[in-house]
Amino acid sequence: DERLRRVRDRVRSFPDFPVPGVLFRDISPLLKDPVAFRTLIDLLEDHVRASFPKIDFIVGLDSRGFLIGPPLAQRLGIGFVPIRKKGKLPGPTESVSYALEYGKAELEIQTDAVEPGQKVVIVDDLLATGGTMCAAYELLKRLKAEILECLVVIELKPLKGLEKLSSIPFYSLLQYD
Ligand code: IMP
Repeated sequence: DERLRRVRDRVRSFPDFPVPGVLFRDISPLLKDPVAFRTLIDLLEDHVRASFPKIDFIVGLDSRGFLIGPPLAQRLGIGFVPIRKKGKLPGPTESVSYALEYGKAELEIQTDAVEPGQKVVIVDDLLATGGTMCAAYELLKRLKAEILECLVVIELKPLKGLEKLSSIPFYSLLQYD
């Protein structure tokens, strides 16, 4: 697909970032190129429209999910809900801690962000080990949301995040070996 190629051409790779041994995939060139960025949102919109007749919210993950989620939500004519790193959201929140490669982190959502039964798609830039996406899924489950899908631009296949997500519906636009 020509459109997928246009998007993939704008992802850069940096060896040994942020730590030795990690090959970091960088979407900055994609955000910088308005044609490629629009194509990305076109592709995500087409996928989501074809898959789900009704969605209430796009939920985006701190922080690169905030670059992709809102333009997608606008295209779909629906709202955007942020899941943030600990300590950023005011008012009552649900929080969940999850394992990182080194140490742990915590994600939060505002308790009133989604009502029970509302249909959401969770969006992030990239799936690596799947820890972040699983934590987001857990938060939305606690709010009794109906999670239609976890959606990412890039899936890093060797890190086997998909195994951690097990039966959770998942879609990635680009896969890297
Ligand atoms: P996971 O929890 O191991 O799946 O890591 C996914 C999270 O870390 C996402 O929020 C990504 O933004 C970030 N991340 C991990 N690896 C990369 C990378 O190579 N490029 C960009 N972001 C990454």
